[in-house]
Amino acid sequence: MLQYLKRIYNKSQKDYCAFLSGCLENNTKKFVITTNPESIMMAENDEMLDKMLLDESVDLVPDGIAVIKACQMLGVDVTERITGVDIADFLISELNRQKKSIYLFGAKPEVVETFVNKIKADYPDVQIAGYSDGYVKDRDAVFDEIVNAAPDVCLVALGIPHQEKLIYKHIDRFEKGIFVGVGGSFDVLSGCKARAPQFFIKHNIEWLYRIAKEPSRLKRFYNSNVKFIFKIRKEKNHKVS
Ligand code: UDP
Repeated sequence: MLQYLKRIYNKSQKDYCAFLSGCLENNTKKFVITTNPESIMMAENDEMLDKMLLDESVDLVPDGIAVIKACQMLGVDVTERITGVDIADFLISELNRQKKSIYLFGAKPEVVETFVNKIKADYPDVQIAGYSDGYVKDRDAVFDEIVNAAPDVCLVALGIPHQEKLIYKHIDRFEKGIFVGVGGSFDVLSGCKARAPQFFIKHNIEWLYRIAKEPSRLKRFYNSNVKFIFKIRKEKNHKVS
């Protein structure tokens, strides 16, 4: 797993946002993966995920405290978490400043619609290039529409690894655009679901809040995060011995 962790962005969220702002200004195409234990664990047995996590043109940012801890355990330098919600939030305010466009793909119909209306109200200079909920039959057809719309930012909220695979499959069809898989961010940013209170975010226990709110997440958490840390520990011991 070290091969993936070594590629993770190691400066602050503020620095990364400044970098993305420059990409927007210069129309530089970018695919950002908010990397968490789940994506790293899956990549070990999934050729396409493995390829994209090792692809030099793809940016990996650390989403999740377990990724930060894993990096520290294996001696990889990282600074702080950079989450999908924070990147999405930043990009929208930046699009407003630069008067550029966004396409939103994912979440339930009422969630994405609420989100679009919220963006229109809060950020009147953002151009909505289009949107689609994430429960359509033909996801590739939505990407045909996105190619035509040629947005400056495209946020895809379908959950890991579907959102990343879909972006990676289609990214060569675009000349520009910042593409990010943002998981459950539309639910939170639309106001349909509450994000964890600041206390949980500050103390890196946002995961605990999400499990408390949705106990069905516990199994997923165990399968990714807990097993992940065990595997990292094994790699660390292997490295030392
Ligand atoms: N989702 C979707 N289509 C699907 C399955 C899921 O649009 O077929 C959306 C779902 O509504 C949610 C997001 O994908 O908004 C995934 O959220 P989750 O909380 O599982 O992602 P995480 O943030 O944990 O990666």
